[in-house]
Amino acid sequence: MKDTNPWEDAKERLEAAAKQANLDALLHARLAEPDRIIEMSLPIRMDDGRVKTFRGYRVQHNDILGPYKGGLRYHPKVDLDEAKALAFWMTLKCAIIDIPFGGGKGGIAVNPKELSESELERLTREFARKLAPVIGPDKDVPAPDVNTNAKIMDWILDEYEKRTRTTAPAVVTGKSVAHGGSEGRAEATGAGGAIALQSILKSLGKDPKGMTVAIQGFGNVGSHLARYLQKLGCVIVALSDSKGGLFIPRGIADLNAVEACKEKSGRIAGCYCVGSVCDLSNMESLGGKDIQPEDTLTTPVDIVVPAALENAITKENAHKIQASIVLELANGPTTTEADEILAKKGTIVIPDVLANSGGVAVSYFEWLQNKHDEHWEEEHVFASLQEKMEAAATRVAELASARSCTLREAAYALALEKLSTESR
Ligand code: NAD
Repeated sequence: MKDTNPWEDAKERLEAAAKQANLDALLHARLAEPDRIIEMSLPIRMDDGRVKTFRGYRVQHNDILGPYKGGLRYHPKVDLDEAKALAFWMTLKCAIIDIPFGGGKGGIAVNPKELSESELERLTREFARKLAPVIGPDKDVPAPDVNTNAKIMDWILDEYEKRTRTTAPAVVTGKSVAHGGSEGRAEATGAGGAIALQSILKSLGKDPKGMTVAIQGFGNVGSHLARYLQKLGCVIVALSDSKGGLFIPRGIADLNAVEACKEKSGRIAGCYCVGSVCDLSNMESLGGKDIQPEDTLTTPVDIVVPAALENAITKENAHKIQASIVLELANGPTTTEADEILAKKGTIVIPDVLANSGGVAVSYFEWLQNKHDEHWEEEHVFASLQEKMEAAATRVAELASARSCTLREAAYALALEKLSTESR
């Protein structure tokens, strides 16, 4: 993936949307820079006795709509500009999906796969200690993102409660259900992406049934999305992770088998599954082939899904995209220049700020449950998610149609309108 600066790209998009909306100068200035940036030094003792210092970040972009909200990412490429862009997109996303949260994001520059479990816990607890004064159920509510999960959120909650001598399950979302997490939170972003796709297709008079799909990134978001798209009748023909992937034109039927194979071998490449046998010997009988991670996006399919990191679709590969629909499950996967190329080609881009907002919607439901000491059944969570996603997708599709603009332009316009109204 290319090294376009996501924050520069995000600001460019804000400028265009602000001009279009004739945005008030004060609100424009408030959105053009984060409210607050916290940079942390995180020294921990490694298992071999050495001390190693990591760098942590929390960016609180804007709280016009409510407490800052957004994920924590553990990845070697985490830096301030990435966190600023991701926090800005959270501000927009919460406005579009219509939940009372602002935008935040953060993380640690680290490859968690190189740490032992106890080193990961010590690093997370050190992060939580330094975050404790600036987060809180009504202040800033972190959640999982790339390479973070329910276990990490549970450690943060525990450390926060110890540090502040409070009981405050609503300080983080994406916790395990045993520690106050919501049913359906792990699946929420993928499930929401499928609902957004279905709603947008409906507005275009199209049906997802039989459409072929390629997904880049088979982590939390990509793996759940794949299952929900299968339920809609889509055929998943290509999948990849950071190490490689596979392309099976007739469809990858058994996603559970691929997931189990990836769990065992550490990669998707080679996971050609027939029954319980998943290896290269099946490649020929399935008519499949290995692909490189970046090739997933240019495979001949109806729908391509970037579900990994930023800057996956750039001016270098945008013209090679054959799909007529790009469903952005990752944050910031398409650069501004690539967006223009896709728009000229007539490719429909369902933008990240709408497509992946199912995660923060269910995070909001989790926060509500914690605040009111409730536990919602899975059916209630998914029915509420369906309602929120359909309403947001319909608003975006109707505005795009009324203004003859792209779905991203419509989504940004809706977000700015909401923020303008609430900031008065
Ligand atoms: P994850 O760590 O669970 O999975 C990321 C996946 O991407 C892994 O399979 C990894 O191998 C793969 N990957 C990384 N680089 C790749 C490359 N160059 N090519 C192909 N695959 C690559 O993370 P996640 O939680 O699934 O998040 C994925 C994206 O979705 C991120 O952009 C994140 O910000 C966004 N997102 C996540 C959530 C959430 O609830 N977790 C919510 C909204 C948006």
